[in-house]
Formats: sequence, C-alpha cells, structure tokens
Amino acid sequence: MIKQTLVHIYECQQCVITFAVEQAFEDQSVISCPSCCEEEWLEDVGEGVLTIG
Ligand SMILES: [Zn+2]
Repeated sequence: MIKQTLVHIYECQQCVITFAVEQAFEDQSVISCPSCCEEEWLEDVGEGVLTIG
C-alpha cells in the first residue's frame, strides 16, 4: 500500500544535509536538525510529497 505524505523540506547549512518533516507535524517552529540538533542553520527549501510504500 502506497502512502503519500505532504512534507516540508529543510536544509541544514552546517551539516549540508536535507531532511523532510511531515506538514502534519504541527509546530514547525521547533524543528531541529537531526544531525546537529540545532535550528539556527536550518533553511526551509520548500514543500514536497514523500511517497512511502
Ligand atoms: Zn545540522
């Protein structure tokens, strides 16, 4: 079964990684980088659709 989820895509300028956060995750203001656990380097680079399945 294929599931599609709307996500925000973030890029950490420090770690040079991108990661996606589900838009259903309500408080987008507390997003932190999964690598360095900081938020000051994050840049919102857009929206996308994540396909799982
Ligand atoms: Zn980082």
